[in-house]
Amino acid sequence: MSKLTAVWLLVLLVLALGWAAGACRPAPGDEGPPPADGGQDGGTAPESLSFEELLAAPAADELPGRLVVYFLDAGQADASVIRTPGGRIVVIDTGEGPEPLVGFLEAKGVERVDVLVLSHPHADHIGGAPAVLDEFEVGLVVDSGFAHTTQLYRRVLTRIIELRDAGRIQWVAGRAGGVIECDPEITVEILHPDEPLGASVNEASVVVRVTFGSFSVLFTGDIGHESERAILVRGRPVDSTVLKVAHHGSAGSSGEGFLRAAGPTVAVIQVGAGNRYGHPSPEVVGRLEAMGVEVYTTARDGTVIVHSDGKTFTVLVGP
Ligand SMILES: [Zn+2]
Repeated sequence: MSKLTAVWLLVLLVLALGWAAGACRPAPGDEGPPPADGGQDGGTAPESLSFEELLAAPAADELPGRLVVYFLDAGQADASVIRTPGGRIVVIDTGEGPEPLVGFLEAKGVERVDVLVLSHPHADHIGGAPAVLDEFEVGLVVDSGFAHTTQLYRRVLTRIIELRDAGRIQWVAGRAGGVIECDPEITVEILHPDEPLGASVNEASVVVRVTFGSFSVLFTGDIGHESERAILVRGRPVDSTVLKVAHHGSAGSSGEGFLRAAGPTVAVIQVGAGNRYGHPSPEVVGRLEAMGVEVYTTARDGTVIVHSDGKTFTVLVGP
């Protein structure tokens, strides 16, 4: 072995150990960590925390050992935050501007966003990304890799590339079959998109399924029927306790077959009151309700919080 090879092996070893010790990272293939058996309550009785108390609690201390998901009320836009059982922060979409996401993270004392998923480059999903990248330490950015030509996307991309080149973040395109190793208690699997991406920004949305024991959440970005079918054909499990309904409840998404396969108990539609698109579609809401799904919309209910011990779960909304 040459000296140079030895040095490189050492560098790789140090990097690997660094990952294991700290950061979230993409893993090749679909070999995720085994699902937790759940039931390891950290000692705080979940029913003792109200919606307001949970919103005000520092992310580091809230419901330790539980998975907490915040579907933020960001108007006609998607912004969700996951606090993993081990205390990692995963953001899935950022809303249209810095608020409410930045204020929420600051209020929770978050300094580092371990994973930032940008489902697709439309403003209602990445508008807050420049502020998140500027104001927080970000570990890993996962985006769709769809080349979009807007000024906003170029700005986000430029910043991501700067940070990556400075060695401060990792950046990957999310592809079906990919797994993000973040917290050994949970599995974060990417179900979509796959190459070739096609011509639609929405249909190329990154779809993420997070599982913790028998509890799971499916984040669908703005995919439509075409991608829903493609995901089902790929054959990975899509069943989910909680479904972030695709594309703000648009009639172009949430087909019967996909909803049946996902089989959610709870559906959350992130949507602005009186939006000009007529979202959510009464047809989609009706389909969900006919299936016995408990439907929440941020327009009506505001921010929706769901937390779980890996077996049972609790949904909280404001008064
Ligand atoms: Zn959208």
